[in-house]
Amino acid sequence: MKIDSRYAPLFEPLRIGPVSAPNRFYQVPHCTGMGHALPRTLAAMRGVKAEGGWGVVCTEYCSIHPSSDDHPYPFASIWDDMDVKNLAAVADAVHAHGALAGIELWHGGSYVANLATRAPTLGVRSMPARSDPYQSQRMDRADIRRLKLWHRQAALRARDAGFDIIYVYPTHGYLLSEFLSRSLNDRTDEYGGSLTNRARLLRELLEDTKDAVGDRCAVATRFSADGHGDAHLGADEAHDLLGMLGPLPDLWDLVIADYEEEMGSSRFVEAEAFESRVRYARALTGRPVVSVGRFTSPDAMLRQLTSGVLDLVGAARPSIADPFLPAKIREGRIEDIRECIGCNICYAHDARGSALRCTQNPTMGEEWRSGWHPERVPAGRGSVLIVGAGPAGLEAAQVLGKRGFTVALADAADRAGGRVARESRLPGLAEWVRVRDYRTGQIARMQNVELYLGSRLSAADVREFGADYVLLATGARWRRNGIGRWHAAALATLAGDVLTPDDIMDGSRPRGPVVVFDDDNYYMGPVVALALARGGAEVCYVTTESKAGEWSVHTAEQIRTQRGLLDAGVEIIAAHAICAFDGTIATCACIYTGREQTRAAAHLVLVTSREPEDALADDLIGPEGEAEGSRIIRIGDCRQPAIIAAAVYSGHKAARELGGELHTPPRERDRVVIDGSAGRVPAWTDNR
Ligand code: ADP
Ligand code: SF4
Repeated sequence: MKIDSRYAPLFEPLRIGPVSAPNRFYQVPHCTGMGHALPRTLAAMRGVKAEGGWGVVCTEYCSIHPSSDDHPYPFASIWDDMDVKNLAAVADAVHAHGALAGIELWHGGSYVANLATRAPTLGVRSMPARSDPYQSQRMDRADIRRLKLWHRQAALRARDAGFDIIYVYPTHGYLLSEFLSRSLNDRTDEYGGSLTNRARLLRELLEDTKDAVGDRCAVATRFSADGHGDAHLGADEAHDLLGMLGPLPDLWDLVIADYEEEMGSSRFVEAEAFESRVRYARALTGRPVVSVGRFTSPDAMLRQLTSGVLDLVGAARPSIADPFLPAKIREGRIEDIRECIGCNICYAHDARGSALRCTQNPTMGEEWRSGWHPERVPAGRGSVLIVGAGPAGLEAAQVLGKRGFTVALADAADRAGGRVARESRLPGLAEWVRVRDYRTGQIARMQNVELYLGSRLSAADVREFGADYVLLATGARWRRNGIGRWHAAALATLAGDVLTPDDIMDGSRPRGPVVVFDDDNYYMGPVVALALARGGAEVCYVTTESKAGEWSVHTAEQIRTQRGLLDAGVEIIAAHAICAFDGTIATCACIYTGREQTRAAAHLVLVTSREPEDALADDLIGPEGEAEGSRIIRIGDCRQPAIIAAAVYSGHKAARELGGELHTPPRERDRVVIDGSAGRVPAWTDNR
């Protein structure tokens, strides 16, 4: 296929040790929530990335041995031959499209708790696990020897599974980072003390891995270009270490010290932000360098490549949002790129122990069980009326348009986008409007899809329209009565100016003292509080949880959320629920003791839960739900108020399946099946 000449350098092959990447698009290791638990799902998903043009596709963190598991997070594992079989399916799926397959060998050290294997965890010294009441066992020399053997065996298994690039992984706080750490590594032998000594294990593993598989596989290392923080490995030492180990690995995969920044959401971290911190590495190591930065702009990718910062453009999230990003650049179809919005919903679902999903790409994670392809949809015929042009309605319209249906998409508002158009006006959420823009851009080029704005439809209008199918995507509104997780019934004790996020999104900016009550506990409460504080109000934020925006722990946003509120002068009252407001005083009660406290407030904003806008559905479908599932289907927030990703998925699913069989939940189920060959876990001598 002809390559868009502007971006030709991105499509030049690159030698990495003994292997050759077909182009410069590199899907760095990223978690999936699939790992060892969902092998078919994983293989199909990685295969689609390769099909979409990623020249290298890597696994997630992959445990080398049962002395390290990250249960309940679905890590990958390469402990035995059955793991080899499952992971070979990943490598095969990637090779089927001419890409290289990489594997990130991993040992979690003290960071994990081995909740699955119950083996004692190993650390450079005995340290508490990240979040469980377990400490690791201090490693002695025999443990180090065993670790090296396990790593070598894992590398050999990875080679046998067909992987082309094998990682040694000394960052993100796991075992090898502990050895590098100034403060954690208190050893007095040749593995502790000077930087040379602390880096000895890393050097030995790199040498061993090259020795074991280096004739056939490239050996990569993932390393933080600006260290691991002053207490562990300062930026100066990171620089020295890159100089010391320089050409030893065949590839340096560079990250940065602050994980919440590395995984930064668009609320807090701009795209392409790491250039100044990684640019020194290439000259120092003399080896190819890959790094990330939520790249979606081909011009930015090209600039970092041609200006000598990177040899390979690394991506995790942009490859999730659009597995076909490289193919679209190659073909000059830049406007077809489904740009990542930096919401971290992908990461959050891995953090919740469930398979990856994506706000922009509803097919992510559904490649195997639903048979969904990110670019291809089955052909269909008929006419469809979609009521509501929010994320659900827009996604449905563009899928149905692609399928060949005649689509009328109507919205009462004078612009498309529904909740994303409104929410993206709140602080930090501007990039979210890409959810709308990608879809309106696609629809605008379709002759068979018409968008009617300023068109509020009644049940009579819908009937009169006479479409073969009707999709109702009328959304949801925030409740004004306090109902949510904490209050099951409407609060009878509310008076005065009681507002909701919808009012704030409609432009209301109350001044004077305001109390924001957050019982939703994701982004909306903190973002509304911030908007009001920036508008000059004196804001008190009350949450039923112990932290501001508690759920955003999963999206790697909680720390910056809380810091942002504190920096803006917002008072935070945790573990309290609003119980009354009379227009001048807001009263909240401790969720543990019931003890009350009050704040002077002229306004109360309730961020509790949402009421589905289902009046139209009630009129059309009726209480028995007769027509549902066949001709009239509710999608998105009017069926189930949830995250934007759920609305997009819902619209996609209904549109893809319209006219055929509807599958709720998906037809296939990935799981480990008893086939007679129980996995024998490798033992290790333990004479303690
Ligand atoms: P979702 O997230 O499910 O896509 P949104 O709340 O983002 O839902 O969008 C719902 C959209 O539906 C809004 O833009 C709203 O203006 C529109 N809408 C709601 N009721 C009607 C109606 N009766 N006729 C036309 N548009 C409607
Ligand atoms: Fe990007 Fe959000 Fe999709 Fe993750 S879920 S890839 S952050 S759009």
